[in-house]
This record gives sequence, structure tokens and C-alpha cells, in this order.
Amino acid sequence: MTTYQARRRAIAEGLAERRLDAMLVALGPNLRYLSGFTGSNGWLLVSAERSILFTDPRYLIQARQESAGEGCEVRIAKGPILMAVVSAIARRRLRLIGYEPARLTCDVYEALLKKLPAHTSLRAVEDWIESQRTIKSADEIELIRRSVVTNSRAFEQAATRLRPGMKESDLAAEIEYRMRRLGAEKPSFETIVASGLRTALPHAQPTSAEIRPGLLLVDMGSQQDGYCSDMTRMLFLGKPGRRVTSAYRAVLEAQLAAIDAVRPGARTADVDRAARRVLQQHGLDKAFVHSTGHGLGLEIHEPPRIGRRDKSKLAAGMTITIEPGVYLEDFGGIRIEDTVVVTDRGCEILTPTPKELRVV
Ligand code: ZN
Ligand code: ZN
Repeated sequence: MTTYQARRRAIAEGLAERRLDAMLVALGPNLRYLSGFTGSNGWLLVSAERSILFTDPRYLIQARQESAGEGCEVRIAKGPILMAVVSAIARRRLRLIGYEPARLTCDVYEALLKKLPAHTSLRAVEDWIESQRTIKSADEIELIRRSVVTNSRAFEQAATRLRPGMKESDLAAEIEYRMRRLGAEKPSFETIVASGLRTALPHAQPTSAEIRPGLLLVDMGSQQDGYCSDMTRMLFLGKPGRRVTSAYRAVLEAQLAAIDAVRPGARTADVDRAARRVLQQHGLDKAFVHSTGHGLGLEIHEPPRIGRRDKSKLAAGMTITIEPGVYLEDFGGIRIEDTVVVTDRGCEILTPTPKELRVV
């Protein structure tokens, strides 16, 4: 049995307890996770006996290459793909179909409702496939590790080209060019490059502003073979003053404390608290305005969330980020982020890039 078949079997075996006749998986990371298909149009119908991948004629060859060998029946719709899905459901007299509310637009949901036969109904199923995806296999961890290494190498290459006066957007372009040259398909999210006071914006988009002496925040991720990486590093152009070095030390101490709290069975809220407690000791907890981290894999943000009010527990095989930060309008922002994997005993930091403030 291939990896994809095993993943679908876990879903097929869970149908009965949910009283579902089939699970309809929309295009996106869940569909890729269960079938291997990477095209831009598709549906996957998983029932106890079989799995059918629906797509359109543009993906005839690709779907066969990616998914037919994985035990999926590939069905090429001649007309609207949704109609092919509906007629397969009708022909097999499936009555209760699970669907993913977070992955459908309202108009697609309504079209489905309207076209399905009267005896068939839909039931929302939330986070089923997502929770299966939180525990990564050894192969997936290797893919994430490669993505992380590509990302760190791209950072190194781009950082050597950094000069005062360079535009934020040019450094972002350099980073994304480098990651592609190193094997990434694309960035896993829009690269953040923020200089000076703009570092106080946790999700700043790069602008045409010139990078001047002072703080520089780079938050970047690669996507390689579908798997994401995520890293934030701080640079300083010129000589950092005492306020910068002490705030930097506080954030680093918070990040290390959170990493120290990562182990199987730990509550994600406690990992978050470990970072927050350190920042509180430095009088900076109010400046830490987001959660400590998030899961990542086929998507850049996946469960679990490492936040104050999060209820989940860590387990071996989860890949998460640890990224505390402080943001002060009159000063700027400092964030340090690594990608880590939860192991049997604790965790392994995958990100190889050094964490001291990089002075340029
Ligand atoms: Zn990030
Ligand atoms: Zn992140």
C-alpha cells in the first residue's frame, strides 16, 4: 500500500463511525495529501470501497501520473466538474456525504446542494483530515527539513548581497529568486522584509523604501515538494544601541524558553506561556501581540496553534514554528522564528541559521 492509499484508508475507515457514505474532499492541501494530485482543478470522493479523483481534460496526463498509480480512479469531466461529482454520487446512491466547510465557497456549496439528488444530504466535517495531517511521517519530516535548509541557504545568499540603500522589495525579490534557484517551487508566503520603524508591523509587506541603518526584519519561507518552511531573522545595519541589544536578548531568551518547553504531551498553551513569562520579566509582554507559533506542513499555517488560549497538546511528529516577537511603535519590532519538530523526547530545531543579531 502506498502512502496515499494508507492515508485514504484512514479516512475510509472513519466513515462508518461518522455515519457517512463518503467524504468529498475539495481542491487544496487535503486533496493533495490524500491523492498526490497537484493540479488546480479537482475533487476527491473517498468511500469505503474506492476513491475517485475528478478533474478536467487539461489534467488528464498529470492526474494519471500523480494519482492513478496511487489507487485512485481518475475521472476526467467533459463538462462542469461538479456535475461529474454529482452524477457519481447519484449513480452509487450515496446518501450522506461529508464535506469541508472551510474549503468551499458559498456558491459551490449551494450549487452542490441544488444539484444533488433529493435523497442525498451533506454534512459538515471539520478538521478531520487536518488533524490527521498534524502528525508528520518520517518522509514528510525529511521534506520539511529540506525546505528549511533551502530557506536558510537562500537567506544566507541574499544577506551577502544586502547593502544600505537597497529597497526592501529588492531584497525580497533576491530572497525569492535564491530560494527558487535552490530548489523551492515558490515562497510559502509573501516574503516579509521590513526596515527601521516598519519592523513594528508584524506582517509588513516589503515596500520601495530604502533599507537604512537600523533594524531589519526578514520573515521568509520556502515551499519545496509541497512542504513549507518558515523563519524570521533580525539584522542590524550599523551599530546597535543598548535598547536594541537588550530587547533582542529578551526575545531570544523567550524563544529559547518556548523551545525548551516543546515536548510530546506538552500543552501548546504552556509553550506559549514559557515565552510570555520571559518577556514579562523584561517588561515586554504587552508588546508581544501574537501567538508563539503554529503548525506547518503542506500549508504555512496548520494546526496546532501555539497560543495562549489554545487547547491542543503536542505529539511526536508535529512540525511547528516558535516565533515570539515584540513590537513598539516608536522603536520597531524584533521577532526570532525557527521551524522545529517534536520528537519522542523533546524537539529538534530544524532551522540551521544562527540566531544572534546579525550586524551588517
Ligand atoms: Zn514566519
Ligand atoms: Zn510563522
